[in-house]
Amino acid sequence: MQVTTSAVGSSEQTPVCHSWEMKEAIALLETDPTTGLSDAVVKQRLAKYGANELTAKKSKAWWLKFLLQFNQPLLIILLCAGLVKALSGSFVNAGVIWGVTTTNAIIGFVQESKAEGAIAALAKAITTETVVLRDGEKLRIPSQQLVPGDVVLLTSGDKVPADLRLIQVKNLQIDESALTGESVAIEKITQPLKTDTPLAERKNMAYAGGFVTFGQGMGIVVATGNNTETGRISQLMEQHTDVSTPLTRKFDKFSQNWLYMVLGLATLTFVVGLSYRNFQDALEAAVTLTVSAIPEGLPAVVTVTLAIGVSRMAKRHAIIRKLPAVETLGSATVICSDKTGTLTENQMTVQAIYAGGHQYNLTGVGYNPEGEILSDDIVDLNRQRGLQECLIAGLLCNDSHLEKKNGKWVVLGDPTEGALIASAEKAGFSQSMLAKQMPKLDAIPFESDFQYMATLHVTAKGKTIYVKGSVEAILQRCTLMLNSDGQTRPMDCVETLRQTTIEREVNIMARQGLRVLALAKKPMSNEQTTVDHNDIETGLIFLGLQGMIDPPRESAIKAVEACQNAGIQVKMITGDHAVTAQAIARRMGINKNGSVLAFSGAELAQMNPTELAQVAEEGVVFARVAPEQKLRLVEALQSKGEVVAMTGDGVNDAPALKQADIGIAMGGAGTEVAKEAADMLLTDDNFASIEAAIEEGRAVYKNLLKAICFILPVNGGESMTILLSTLLSRDLPILSLQVLWLNMLNSITMTVPLAFEPKAANVMTQPPRHPNEPLLSGSRVKRILAISLFNWLVIFGVFEYIRQTTGNIDLARTMSINSLIAGRIFYMLSISQLVPNLIAKMDGTIKENVDIPAIGLGIVGAIALQIVFSHVPLINQVFSTAPLSFQQWLFCLAVGSPMIIWATFVNRLDPPN
Ligand code: ADP
Ligand code: MG
Repeated sequence: MQVTTSAVGSSEQTPVCHSWEMKEAIALLETDPTTGLSDAVVKQRLAKYGANELTAKKSKAWWLKFLLQFNQPLLIILLCAGLVKALSGSFVNAGVIWGVTTTNAIIGFVQESKAEGAIAALAKAITTETVVLRDGEKLRIPSQQLVPGDVVLLTSGDKVPADLRLIQVKNLQIDESALTGESVAIEKITQPLKTDTPLAERKNMAYAGGFVTFGQGMGIVVATGNNTETGRISQLMEQHTDVSTPLTRKFDKFSQNWLYMVLGLATLTFVVGLSYRNFQDALEAAVTLTVSAIPEGLPAVVTVTLAIGVSRMAKRHAIIRKLPAVETLGSATVICSDKTGTLTENQMTVQAIYAGGHQYNLTGVGYNPEGEILSDDIVDLNRQRGLQECLIAGLLCNDSHLEKKNGKWVVLGDPTEGALIASAEKAGFSQSMLAKQMPKLDAIPFESDFQYMATLHVTAKGKTIYVKGSVEAILQRCTLMLNSDGQTRPMDCVETLRQTTIEREVNIMARQGLRVLALAKKPMSNEQTTVDHNDIETGLIFLGLQGMIDPPRESAIKAVEACQNAGIQVKMITGDHAVTAQAIARRMGINKNGSVLAFSGAELAQMNPTELAQVAEEGVVFARVAPEQKLRLVEALQSKGEVVAMTGDGVNDAPALKQADIGIAMGGAGTEVAKEAADMLLTDDNFASIEAAIEEGRAVYKNLLKAICFILPVNGGESMTILLSTLLSRDLPILSLQVLWLNMLNSITMTVPLAFEPKAANVMTQPPRHPNEPLLSGSRVKRILAISLFNWLVIFGVFEYIRQTTGNIDLARTMSINSLIAGRIFYMLSISQLVPNLIAKMDGTIKENVDIPAIGLGIVGAIALQIVFSHVPLINQVFSTAPLSFQQWLFCLAVGSPMIIWATFVNRLDPPN
């Protein structure tokens, strides 16, 4: 097929394609709705129209981003300090202060860009997939590969991948609010519309970026990439890479308050200084105090720590979509998790069947269709019509296939359905044979909201609908049932039996943790060509039950234990039967104070908000929960002050995911809607990855606090020194430039490694952090004051002593700074994980590599910088420093060493981990 230049997917025609007749659309777009495009045509069109992606809108210009770095109170005050210096004539000083400020802005800029880059890259890694018809086959492809003319299949939960002219719909509803502002989903049609129909009313079109909230449909791509309606107003796709989080905001607030305090102290210093000395000296003292009290290196450390957290989580299968989740994770108090696939393997195997009044057991493992169907009281299975019908129903009402891959049987499609295929094949049925004998005409796919699936078939005895689903959904629709010879008899006259026998059988299966499916059929008239929800409202013939095992994930069992030890409640939310879910919960050790209370969706629906909140707290298993109820559960838990992490994968989970403090979507099984609404994605759909992310989240917060508690005492020591020296009218033991050297170079080399710290062994043995906990608790403020005090003693003491003994003021200042840093190194070792980890490594308690490099490099770097500071002549001139003798270096080391004892004492009172 030759692609003519004008016809296909040109942007002039997209505005009118809603007015085309269906045939016209197919012809103009040169495609075939029964087979889709051929590979060759796809290649041509891909070359011509390019990939189906929006060229991302340019974010802020780099220079603007850079300038914005200066828009921080701390940096502004430094710029002013430089200005004061320049006005008073000390240009070298002013230059250095400005230089430092700029360096700080550069570091902030680079770190922020890196963090944004990392998040954007992660976001890119999450590709939207779409199902197309090509060369007569249904394929799942990344949506970037779509071209005009492609035939796309939509089902609920999908994101519309390009602009489509719809040619087939089945209750198709699409939420296009992002494009049209219309907040309710629109029911779609296929008939042509008037040319002048406004965008929001073009019901026969599906526009890129919309979400399918219900039903299914098929459409032909009319425009891709920037030619789509969304592409035209492109801002919609602007990447959200805001790197501010509650913590960084808390931090900004903190810096502001800090700033007022500093300004107050600086004024005081200036006034006091004036009364003793000349203007110049008073000014130097005030400026030095200002610079000394500002933790210049801190903002950089905060961003680095968060960015490292994001990448560590990604390594453990948790991809952060929204940065604040990194820290919120650390304070999570409840995890509400899906059962199937997240806590369990989603590897279903039918183990029990109840049909025609008999119980059967099945042998065999996994999806391997080899195995036996056994019964205590039946010899000849082939004569059990009831059993046969039950198995056939499972095989026909099915959209999946089994395949042998590398010697292992796997399911292509839904594991629940795979299990039903395997069980039928164990009785000798063949899926392909049956599909030929009783071809499928139409289907209602499974949806959690309805809990059933139905298919319409042509059989020897006329048309028949086969239905499978949850016991509750199916039984209430049954009026007849099948006995073992295949005779129907009314369900009504065995009303009591239905209550007792079937329910009893369901309970027997469920108590073993089996997932139970009920199967049914309904004969239809020959005119029937489609199946609709109304068709199966009533009059079904009950065929039997199949119970399947879904083993818990080993790693999830461990993760549940870890969470519960860490004071985090685990709750199971499932569409499955309460008894089944309860059995699995018990097996996995999920409980609250030892008990496993279960509530069903029906019970929850009856409750008022107060009752619900109570039950949400007490309950462990929430079964037969409709997706909408997840939202109520999240709100109920939050009303009790919980910080809730909630998983979800379906279309209707989006509101709950948004409401949750941490919405978690499944990267594998999740729909696009859920992924879009989530804060975090699990690439392996495993509960254990949630636990891992929480662990990392807690570690991030700890490391941040450590960094803060590491940086601030130096500022504290310096400012105490300056304040006191001014009040006592003594020479300043440290000059403003030297302060900057300490606060910038030294702080960054030594603090950034703290961000790389591995987590402490006890991260998951402590209760969750309170979400409203202030940045600095009382005990942390005391810690900072205690270490500041030590630092002050060192700076002040060494300066005075060396000055008296040598008379060399530059040497005195240099040595007091070097002693301070010696103490700082000891302090760092005392709060870092390095020493405990090395000891554990020697004991053999931990096997992983200990992160020596980061901290080690930090220490080596700090020492190297101090050698430069003390011995390079140019630096000596600019920073007014002087070289030390070997003995003097040792002296500094000796003065710093009592920090070991002091820090040990402080760590006792306020454990750093
Ligand atoms: P969950 O994923 O939480 O286990 P689902 O919402 O997937 O729960 O399923 C709820 C119930 O619907 C199941 O207990 C089962 O009875 C029924 N069910 C699940 N999958 C299918 C399917 N493919 N076809 C028909 N019924 C199903
Ligand atoms: Mg499911």
